[in-house]
Amino acid sequence: MINLLDMDQTALSEFFAEIGEKPFRATQVMKWIHQLGVLDFDMMSNLSKALRQKLKAVAYISIPKVILHQLSEDGTHKWLLQLDEQNSVEMVLIPEEERHTLCISSQVGCALDCQFCATAKQGFNRNLTTGEIIAQLWLAEHVLFSGMNQDEEFIPVAKKQRTITNVVMMGMGEPLTNFNNVIKAMRIMLDDFAYGLSWRRITLSTVGIIPAINRLKTECPVSFAISLHAPNDDLRNKLVPINKKYPIKPLIAACHDYIKGEQHRRHITFEYVMLKGVNDDPNQAKQLVKLLRNLPAKINLIPFNQFSQSDYQCSSQDKIDQFRNILLQGGLVTVTRKTRGNDIDAACGQLAGKVLNKKKNLTNTL
Ligand code: SAH
Repeated sequence: MINLLDMDQTALSEFFAEIGEKPFRATQVMKWIHQLGVLDFDMMSNLSKALRQKLKAVAYISIPKVILHQLSEDGTHKWLLQLDEQNSVEMVLIPEEERHTLCISSQVGCALDCQFCATAKQGFNRNLTTGEIIAQLWLAEHVLFSGMNQDEEFIPVAKKQRTITNVVMMGMGEPLTNFNNVIKAMRIMLDDFAYGLSWRRITLSTVGIIPAINRLKTECPVSFAISLHAPNDDLRNKLVPINKKYPIKPLIAACHDYIKGEQHRRHITFEYVMLKGVNDDPNQAKQLVKLLRNLPAKINLIPFNQFSQSDYQCSSQDKIDQFRNILLQGGLVTVTRKTRGNDIDAACGQLAGKVLNKKKNLTNTL
């Protein structure tokens, strides 16, 4: 049996060819699933009865179960999704006036051990499948944010407006070490027969897996963010240990390559978590200016979000402002990211799916 959510349009067309059907069935089925939110083959009224029976025999559509929902004082939502008996992930939705941003997870835990990240402390369990990645967008778009109960019978209505306007691959995990599944899921996000999001509205954030950055450019060039966090190798080796394998110089070269020849791909975002007394010195800001000044770079300063297993502290507001001013004076577009959902552990680096170990807390709040 095959989960149809695991397939982008190309894979779905091949699948239909294999079962002796016309490839255009792929776009019909994609519309039902991703645009209309329909999971029941019997409701796909432009497919013949015979084809619906055939599909039921060989395929299914599976969506993770929502086991916890939390709503922050600032309006940020966090959901815990159960993937299987051992594994759950979190996803976060940040509603703003002009846009709704969904923060999607790509792995259960993370193998990269960044020193200031709660997900890293969990260790790594497994990659998410394409279906489990795109199901997060499906759930946010069709069920959760429209206030429906996941168990209610679903009556499809053509929606005039999209709920989710922006996707950030910034949840649990390192998306570029789950390359194939992430790419396929992003292709579904971009597909006009599915979510039709522009590449500008999908941002993939990575620690900087250089060979995968090069592949991303050719296979699915979406907006792009690098978790830099330090202006030199000595410090980055400590904070982001994968830097020993992919150091700053070749990483910056890969960034240059990523935007080369693409006038419309305006900038690369660099994320920089502000850690008190570690990476927030004015001299480090000056080093950062030198490092990035030849790139169309945008710097996102992220105030460090505290979590229980970490001794790091967040830089003071004064320090962050001073750091930001040096970058601005150096000609770098710099913004300080507003912390969202802190009260429900939904902020950057706080996602851990920690409820899974405390079974008594599992409630179906929907
Ligand atoms: N693995 C990818 C995707 C995660 S994105 C990456 O590293 O880019 C999550 C962002 O939040 C990353 O920039 C990460 O470095 C940052 N982050 C991690 N822990 C944090 C914390 N405790 N406080 C603030 N930002 C954090």
